Order: sequence, then structure tokens, then C-alpha cells
Amino acid sequence: MKNSFLFLFLLAIIFLPESVFGKSVIIQTTPEKIYPGDAFLIKIKNLRSKNIPVAIVNKKEFVFVENDKNSYIAIGAMDINSKPKKYKIRIKSGNKIFWSYLHVKKKKFPSIHINLPEEKVFPNEIDQLRIADEKCKMEQIWQLTTEKKWEGSFILPIKNEISTKFGAKRIMNQKLTSIHWGIDFKAQEGEGIKASNNGKVVLTENLFYGGNTIVIDHGLGIYSIYMHLSDIKVKPNDEIKKGEVIGNVGSTGRATGPHLHFGIKINGINVSPVSLIKLNI
Ligand SMILES: [Zn+2]
Repeated sequence: MKNSFLFLFLLAIIFLPESVFGKSVIIQTTPEKIYPGDAFLIKIKNLRSKNIPVAIVNKKEFVFVENDKNSYIAIGAMDINSKPKKYKIRIKSGNKIFWSYLHVKKKKFPSIHINLPEEKVFPNEIDQLRIADEKCKMEQIWQLTTEKKWEGSFILPIKNEISTKFGAKRIMNQKLTSIHWGIDFKAQEGEGIKASNNGKVVLTENLFYGGNTIVIDHGLGIYSIYMHLSDIKVKPNDEIKKGEVIGNVGSTGRATGPHLHFGIKINGINVSPVSLIKLNI
């Protein structure tokens, strides 16, 4: 009789939930439903581990950062071409594995017609070489993942009306179609542009399409891009604070008039800037 009690006692210890010995691990993904091209937030609570967790979603890895004792945070993103469905999120911390889900809803992106000077839509051979060079330089920037510099939520660089949304199909001069990888804000020439979060300037250059461009590295694979500026007030390696004025609105590069093009990259994925700003970090 004593033995069977001992056996039951041991069995109970083995199968008792973790919550009896400590708080169980909580994984929170917000928002629960997103659109292709959106950013999302994963929060882990009560994880006692020596290993910084990593989330794998749609074959992409997003590294967590500790934001409190035993709690971690990661900003992820879903590619604009990802299929609308329920995705599994695999979270690895040493030899511990956890699962969560993310629902990607279907979205129809708008098409818009714009007219530009022919040479900006169909560049000559010399310009094509320049464009290829600039593209290569930018691609190299997105490959680098540095330590976290962002603090809290990201902010709008300018509080103006949006003229062209993220993901819009732009039909140029009735001939060429290109995807709009950012948002355009209506603005007057010379209006101040603010840094979306803390970070380090990694590029200040005049690009064929982007005109005067600034790229800020916010760490953990997140970059913000500001284009068509009239002038740039920062230089590479400058450490920037959230809200600091980094330049002024202009119409340099491929632009129909003064406006700010604002883009976000997360782990090389083009992300809807509005979706990142909406995250309650
Ligand atoms: Zn734009």
C-alpha cells in the first residue's frame, strides 16, 4: 500500500504543471492578425533561461532582447508576398521550444498612375550602372544586424497626411509598374524631418531614385529610410535620438514634387512603416 502511494506521489511530481514550481511561460503576439508587409511584436514572460530566445516565422529569424527580468521582446515582420494564412511561430531558447501563432489576412494593395520625366522611368546606361551600384550598397546595409538602439515605440518622422501608401502598385507613364516600398507624406519644401527612433546614421547620400537620402540603423535588423530631402543635417556614424531633426523635406531624386518618402526595413524585409509605429513597444 505504502509503495503505491509513493508511486502516485512520484507520478504527480513528474506530471505537475510548471506553474506549481514557478510561473508558466507566457507568449504574446500583437496584433494577433496582420497583413502582408506588416510588423508584429512578440513578448515572452516568465522565461528563466540563460539563452536569448530566437523566433522563427516563415523561415525568417528574429532575435529577442531582454526588456525586464525573465521577459523578452522581439519585433518581427511578414513579407508583402507572404500567403494569407495562419503561421506558426517557433521560439527557441537553448533546448527549450515554444510555439505561438500569427494570422496573416488577405489584402488588396491599390494601384496608382503617376507621370514622371521619361529619363527617371527609363534611365540611360550610365544611370543604370549607378542604380545597380546604389542597390548593391543598400543591400549590404540590410545584411548587418547590430545591437539594439531603439527605445520604445517608433514615431512618425512628420505628422502630415499620407499621399501614397505602402505596397501601392505605381504605374509610371502608363508603362512601368513598381511597388511603393514606403509611405509618402505630403509636405512643403524645407519642413523638418524627425528620426523615428534612437539609432546610428549609416548612410547619407544622393541616390538616383531616392535623391538626398538618410538611413538610420536602429539595431536588431531595423532600419529607417528618409528620401528626397532638400538637405541632410547628419553624417554617417552620428548617434541620433528619437525625434531629433535630421533633415528637411525636398524633391530631389525621382519625385513629382516636395514630399517625404519614409521606409522601414526589418531583417531585409520591406515593412509598412505605419504597422511598426502602431506597435505598443
Ligand atoms: Zn515614396
